[in-house]
Amino acid sequence: MLHADRPTVSVAAGKGGTGKTLFATSLAVALNEVQPGQVQLIDCDVEEPNADILLHPQIAEREPVKVLVPEVDLDTCTRCGRCAQECQFSAIAVIRDAVLTFPDLCAACGVCAYVCPVGAIAEVERQVGIVERGMSPEGIHFVQGRLSVGDQRATPVTKATARMVDVNMISILDAPPGTACPMQESIESSDYCILVTEPTPFGLANLQDAVETCRRMELPCGVVINRDGIGTPGVTDYCTAEGIDILLRIPQDRSIAEAYARGETLAHSFPQWRDELVDVYDAVCKFLRSESTLTT
Ligand code: SF4
Ligand code: SF4
Repeated sequence: MLHADRPTVSVAAGKGGTGKTLFATSLAVALNEVQPGQVQLIDCDVEEPNADILLHPQIAEREPVKVLVPEVDLDTCTRCGRCAQECQFSAIAVIRDAVLTFPDLCAACGVCAYVCPVGAIAEVERQVGIVERGMSPEGIHFVQGRLSVGDQRATPVTKATARMVDVNMISILDAPPGTACPMQESIESSDYCILVTEPTPFGLANLQDAVETCRRMELPCGVVINRDGIGTPGVTDYCTAEGIDILLRIPQDRSIAEAYARGETLAHSFPQWRDELVDVYDAVCKFLRSESTLTT
C-alpha cells in the first residue's frame, strides 16, 4: 500500500557489510534536516541492531516480544506421539516415557496442541526479544528490535519491529542482510526497497538475489552502490540491462570509511551529501507517484 506523500522506504542488502546501515541512518539524518521531527528510523536487523551506534538515541520505552510455545502435562499425556509426528520443525519429541520440547526450534504454530487427542498441551508465553523506542538528539524517532541472546527465532521480533511503522511519518526501515524470512518480513511493509551493494562479483550475485526477492514480492526497488570505483562494472551493467535505477553512488573514499569507523553518518560528517541523500528519497517519491498514475 502506498503511504501517500510519505512512502515508507526499506533499505536492504543481499549480504552484510555493504554499508546498508550507514546509508539508512544517513538518509534519516538528511531527511530530518528538511522535515525536522517527521522522520522515523526502524532498525529491523534484530540479530545485530547497530543503527543506534550511529544515531545515539535515548531509549524511552521497551516492550517484550513473546511467542506461544508448548508445555506438556505429563500426567495427562498418553505418549501417543501424535504431536511429534505432526511438528514440522522437530521441536517436540516423544522418547520412551518422556516428551521433550525444544523451544529454540519451535515456530509457535500451535499444531501440536491442536492435534493432541487428550488436551495435554498448553501454550505458554516465552519472550524471544524486545522492541525499543526512543529519540535521537536531533529528533529522529527511533525504533529497534533486539533478539534475545541465544534465541534463533528472529522472525517474530522482526515482525513486531516492522509493525512500528508510522504512516504519518517518513519511515526508513533498516532490514536484516540476506534475503531470508526476516528480510522479507522487514521490507513487506514498505512501499519501495533501496538495495545497497558493492561493485564486486560478490556484490552483484547478492544483489541479483535481492532484486529477485523484491520482484517476487512485487515491491519496486532501486540500487545504491557503495564503495563505487572498486571492483568491476558488473553491477552497473546488470542494473542497466534490468532497467533498475541506480539512485546514488557513494565513492570508495578513505575519509568516509574513517567517519564510519568513528560512528558518524555521511550526513553528519559530510554536509555536502545531505542534498544528494534527500534527492534519493525525492526520486523514490517521484517514481511511486508515476507508477500509481500509470496503474490508475
Ligand atoms: S499428542 Fe498429546 S498425548 Fe500424544 S504424546 Fe503428544 S502431548 Fe502426549
Ligand atoms: S508449536 Fe508448532 S513448531 Fe512448536 S512444537 Fe508445536 S508443532 Fe512444533
